[in-house]
Order: sequence, then structure tokens, then C-alpha cells
Amino acid sequence: MKKTTAHRVQTGLTPLKNIKNIIAIASGKGGVGKSTVTTNLAMVLSQQGYRVGILDADIYGPSQPRLLGLSGKPEIVDNQFVPFISHGVQVMSIGFLIAPDAPAIWRGPMVTKALIQMLNDSAWDNLDYLLIDLPPGTGDIQLTMSQKIPVAGSVIVTTPQDLSLIDAKKAIMMFEKVNVSILGIVENMSTHVCSQCGYEEAIFGSNGAETLTDQHKVPLLGQIPLLSAIREHSDKGVPVVIAEPDSSSAKDYQKIAMSLIAQLALQKKDYSAKFGSLKIEQ
Ligand code: ADP
Repeated sequence: MKKTTAHRVQTGLTPLKNIKNIIAIASGKGGVGKSTVTTNLAMVLSQQGYRVGILDADIYGPSQPRLLGLSGKPEIVDNQFVPFISHGVQVMSIGFLIAPDAPAIWRGPMVTKALIQMLNDSAWDNLDYLLIDLPPGTGDIQLTMSQKIPVAGSVIVTTPQDLSLIDAKKAIMMFEKVNVSILGIVENMSTHVCSQCGYEEAIFGSNGAETLTDQHKVPLLGQIPLLSAIREHSDKGVPVVIAEPDSSSAKDYQKIAMSLIAQLALQKKDYSAKFGSLKIEQ
């Protein structure tokens, strides 16, 4: 088992005892592959020997149960949800807890409360990394979550298409505003690779994410092509990095996971857990 250190939470919140580093995975738009990136990165980190969890907070379309072939309700022990385990990764999803149409009639503060409760009321077992699959967008829910959860950093997923990039820019600005460090950008569906002939085409345009990373001085963690194998394995509930660990896709996700850890390593470390709480008696 590899060990990692906790990194400082820039928003000043105290890190959770049982989770060393919380990483928020965000996107300005839905459908850009944020959940698929979250799942595959979590699996890669677990394959590398880290203790990893996924918190699926995408209340408007929780995908992790489908992406990991999980269903049913989590067990409750000592008033805490026991996360499901998938390929060694601890998984909790709002999709396990609420009826699919419930959030449609919830107000923002109720949604945020439910999501934060799910984080705090789950029995995470000593995690090095918890990846939070945030709801897409940059509204009040995402803003409040970023302010109330002690995240060590965020990752933004986008496609190279202008429409997605405009919203990715809003996500960057949101994290900058609340002082959450941006570990980098993942460009998904960078090119389309034909499964018949291997021809590669930039169907959503090119250099989009690079322009964004240059403008905002945030790293590009990596690019992933649009490949039918990624979608097919996801639909079967097995992430591509598990189904085809030696594929070029698996290598792409591995590279991104390593860049992510490297970016996190550049952040300041948090040593508060090493010291007992100091009491000054008058
Ligand atoms: P989001 O979380 O941003 O809404 P998802 O991760 O649910 O997006 O992905 C949306 C759809 O695109 C899913 O059907 C998924 O399998 C597919 N998908 C995501 N990334 C890729 C990719 N690189 N190649 C092919 N299909 C992909």
C-alpha cells in the first residue's frame, strides 16, 4: 500500500480525519465525460496502491452506480453509510439514497445539505484520495460545496468545443473566487478515433484546452480521445482501465492520474494531523 500526505486546504477548512486529500472533479457543462474521468482516475490511483474513494454528488444525473455496475442501498452501521466497494475503490452515490426525480423539486440549499451530509455520514475507511464527482455547472450548489468541503484541489473536465470551454472558464473562475486550487484541466473527447480504420479527427476542434490553460496559467493534465471502447465498457459497468489495463486509453488515464498527483504534491502539505490539539490553560 502506498501512503500519501495530506495537502493543505487553501480555503482554511480543517481536513477530514479519515480522508487525506479531497479532489473535486468539475465541469462547466454536462455530458463532457466528467463522471467517466472520475471513475477511471479513481481506479488508476487504486491500481497504483492508494486508498481511494468516489463520492458521486452529481445529484441531477448520478452516473457512478451505472459506470460501476452497482445498485441497491448502502448498509448503515453505527448511523453511517457503508460505501460500496468496486475494484478496491470505496463508492458512495447520491443515486443510492434518493429517488431519481426527487432533486427536481429540491431547492439549492437542500441539495447542498444532502450532499455534504452524504460526505460526512459515510464511513470512509482511511482514504488517501476522495474524488468528488460534482454536479455540472457553476451555480450556487457547486459554489457552496467548494466553500464548505475541505477540498485540496479541483480538476476541470472539458471538451475542446467552444461551448464547453466557455463554461470550463466559468468553472475556473468559480474555483479562483473561492480560493480552491485548480490542479489542472482534462480535455476529454480531444479527437475521435475511428474503431474501424484508426483515423483520428478533431471533431470538436483543436487547441481549445491549451488556450484555456495558457490564459489561466493552469496545467493541462492530459487529453483523452473519443473512443467507442471507453463508452462500451462504461455502459457495461466496467471502467476501461479495468477492462483493458494495457490499452492506449488506460495509459491516457494513468498519465493524467500521475500528473494530478504531481500537481497535488506541489501544494503545501498539511501537518495538523501530526500534532495533538494544543490547549493553553490560563
Ligand atoms: P458527464 O459526467 O460529464 O455528464 P459522462 O462521464 O456521463 O459525462 O459521459 C457522457 C457519455 O459520454 C457517456 O455515455 C460516456 O460513456 C461517454 N464518454 C465519456 N468520455 C468518453 C470518451 N473519451 N470516449 C467515448 N465516450 C465517452
